Amino acid sequence: MEVIKGSFAFEGIVTGEVFLDKKKYIDEGITAILDEKDVENEIERFERALELSKESLEDLRTSFAGKMNEHDLEIITAHMMILDDPIYVSDIKKSIKKDKLRAEEAVKLITTKYVKMFKNIQNPEYRQKELDIKDVGKRIVGNLDKRFEDWKKLDGKILVTEEIFPTELLNIYHLGIKIKGIVMEYGGETSHLAILAKALEIPTLMGIKNIFSYNWGKDIILDTTEINSCVIIEPDEKTKKEYENLLEKFELKKEEIKRDANLPTETLDGEKVSLYINVSGDLDSEEVRTLKPDGIGLLRTELLYMKNTSFPDEENQFKVYSGIVEKFDKDSSIIIRTLDIGADKQLPYFKMKNETNSFLGLRGIRFSLQNQDIFITQLKAILRAAYNRNVKIMYPMVTNISELREANKLLERAKKELKEENKLYKEDIEIGVMIEVPSIVMMADVFAQEVDFFSIGTNDLTQYILATDRLSETVSSMYDCYNPAVLRSIAFVKKAADLYGKKVSVCGEMAGDAKAIVAFLSMGIKDLSMVGTSILAARSLIRSLNYDKLKEIKEKLLLCHDSKEVKEILIKYIN
Ligand code: PEP
Ligand code: MG
Repeated sequence: MEVIKGSFAFEGIVTGEVFLDKKKYIDEGITAILDEKDVENEIERFERALELSKESLEDLRTSFAGKMNEHDLEIITAHMMILDDPIYVSDIKKSIKKDKLRAEEAVKLITTKYVKMFKNIQNPEYRQKELDIKDVGKRIVGNLDKRFEDWKKLDGKILVTEEIFPTELLNIYHLGIKIKGIVMEYGGETSHLAILAKALEIPTLMGIKNIFSYNWGKDIILDTTEINSCVIIEPDEKTKKEYENLLEKFELKKEEIKRDANLPTETLDGEKVSLYINVSGDLDSEEVRTLKPDGIGLLRTELLYMKNTSFPDEENQFKVYSGIVEKFDKDSSIIIRTLDIGADKQLPYFKMKNETNSFLGLRGIRFSLQNQDIFITQLKAILRAAYNRNVKIMYPMVTNISELREANKLLERAKKELKEENKLYKEDIEIGVMIEVPSIVMMADVFAQEVDFFSIGTNDLTQYILATDRLSETVSSMYDCYNPAVLRSIAFVKKAADLYGKKVSVCGEMAGDAKAIVAFLSMGIKDLSMVGTSILAARSLIRSLNYDKLKEIKEKLLLCHDSKEVKEILIKYIN
């Protein structure tokens, strides 16, 4: 028996047979050289596979429409763009013609060339590009030799692999193949794959180094629960028995979560907590009905811009924002964040300048202030959608107070223009800033005097406080939002906000995490915004906590020396 720890993407406990996927996509051995007369045939075969690849992506998009958040399917658009990339396509054709390679080998050769090129760029944001192009290459090859047949053997098993690509996972799901769980070497917890695993509800364990160095045997227990987060190879009888009990408990917990779905979000001692939903693309009315969020704590507007072929105009944006706002009651709080592009979020129609470190470059409010027309158009659309509603505006990536003041000046200009155009808009709109960078943490008392609210973006805050790239695999173990430095900065901001009676919410991924919910409540932060799939579990957890008792642990948490100590304290409260 062997127990291997990892990080989890979606919680669950499953036992079953292993499907070991040892195939490596990138192989550099060239096996066949074509006769001149076969070259044209081979090019045609490649073109057919290219078309099939596009069709299968379109099919995937259609089959998941309405079932999954558009943001989660953004990957399909990225892959379509690669399939339509004239340079990539012509490089492959040239390789068939000039090197006389079979289509499969030409695709692999050129794809490998691009993969290496992205690898050589010392910028972690190219890691996703590298994965995307590998995934696309694999899809084309799959359509050349129908390799997808292999996946059928995966039905009912637990996949153990170095890495699986997001669209492969979508394809498998689409084919009706049921994967019980995934264990993988790749560790990107904020990757598209982790997001998909959550959306498809597949228990997934990530970050198992040298995955093929283990003797996987036949049967494993995969436990991706928050507390254990491990895989057990060839469990002994005692462990199997223990897991029968654990599984029963886990199922009971799931039942409890369902039971609590329609009950108020309040602690055992009656403290009301507000749970909001994070919206990245469109929002399904069904989600609002079943999850009953108190509003939207973060409406990421980037996707609307990413989906378009040019910057969306005021009317287009107004319609989209109004459509989302109208899914809620009039009084529900809806926070719309202004455009947050740059770094990992790029627009296909707007070339950003190459920067050595784009995460420290032109992104968020910095972009909006340098592109004022685009910013004012968006502000006007939000102000109109906010008319007679409890809509608020939030600026992302604010670093200096001057940015807030300048943005507010432009907001006044947007209002003036709307007035002159005789359009209805919200005059007294509330303004907030995201807490994402160390400078705004340190200056929170100054900002608190000039804003209506703070929302803590723990995804970026963790990255900037710990100087650790949120997308990097090499330092992924350092990217830890439970580092006491992150918790201390959050407590520091809350204190400053309290001084001026301003509200603090959290809208980073952390807000949906059970341990984090305990930590935030202990600090008196009772407004949490999270992905829809976390809301019911959060409500159920909150109903099992005693708010008054939690206050006692705040100081203990802030005195911890490392994240291990922090987690040990928190985990006791979520059992
Ligand atoms: C954050 O940084 O925590 C956040 C919510 O913003 P995003 O993930 O969109 O950068
Ligand atoms: Mg952010």
